[in-house]
Amino acid sequence: MKEFFRRRKTSFTTGGQPEGNPVPDDMWVKCNACRELVYKKELTDNLKVCPKCGHHMRMSAREWIDLLDGGSFSEMDAHLLPTDPLGFVSLGESYAEKLVKSQQRTGMPDALLSGVGMICGGRLALTVGDFAFMGSSMGSVYGEKLSRAAERAADMGIPLLTINTSGGARQQEGVIALMQMAKVTMALTRLADVGQPHIALMIDPCYGGVTASYPSVADVIIAEPGANIGFAGKRLIEQIMRQKLPAGFQTAEFMLEHGMIDMVVERNQLRDTIGRLIRLYGARRRPVTRRDPVEELIGAIPYM
Ligand SMILES: [Zn+2]
Repeated sequence: MKEFFRRRKTSFTTGGQPEGNPVPDDMWVKCNACRELVYKKELTDNLKVCPKCGHHMRMSAREWIDLLDGGSFSEMDAHLLPTDPLGFVSLGESYAEKLVKSQQRTGMPDALLSGVGMICGGRLALTVGDFAFMGSSMGSVYGEKLSRAAERAADMGIPLLTINTSGGARQQEGVIALMQMAKVTMALTRLADVGQPHIALMIDPCYGGVTASYPSVADVIIAEPGANIGFAGKRLIEQIMRQKLPAGFQTAEFMLEHGMIDMVVERNQLRDTIGRLIRLYGARRRPVTRRDPVEELIGAIPYM
């Protein structure tokens, strides 16, 4: 069977007519890790994990919703839209234009999808980043949605699951993007005050100000196998340090070995693992404590 596809590979890539029964190109996907062709339906059934080599491919934020119990997801804060506070222009393209293009391409108003749903019967608040939307960079809408999700989870007395992939803070929003890191972390403190957990799932790739803030201080930090996780990229660090970094640096497995994350879990085991964690934390609930003045101040930072 493998040889059959090898012979036909040229026809797929050049767009020429294959011999015998033609097979539509869009029925097959080439795995970036093992370069093998995979039947698209088989890949979808396998949660976008390559059946040949186990490579975990990227999924959109909407695809990640399938992790929840069927029909249990209710989207929240979908009305929050990004603005262009700095009138930012780079390489002849304005941030405003870039936003419109990203919105049209992904069907998302910004990079973060937020809502509440259930996993294995346990209710939780959920946020998911979409890397296809400007590298899932954390801007004002991202930060505001995440803060509201944490506060909603605290008010409802339910856990928060964040599924994180990002290139970092959104440079087009300057200091407003950087403020989100502090704002989100303070909202998560409120969740901790009511004794509910923040479970962070880090998926490939997860970098910059996102890795450097809220997922790294979660109660449970999970990563997918092979996910690249770090602050600055490997090449940049090697240039600054003027030394070679070890093989596998910044992979989920490396992070686990060095105590930065709690577990590496394959995609088909995520539902059971998170469901079990929710059950274990389930019985815990403390009354909501009064917010302190510093928290009130940071919470008042405008989202745009
Ligand atoms: Zn593969």
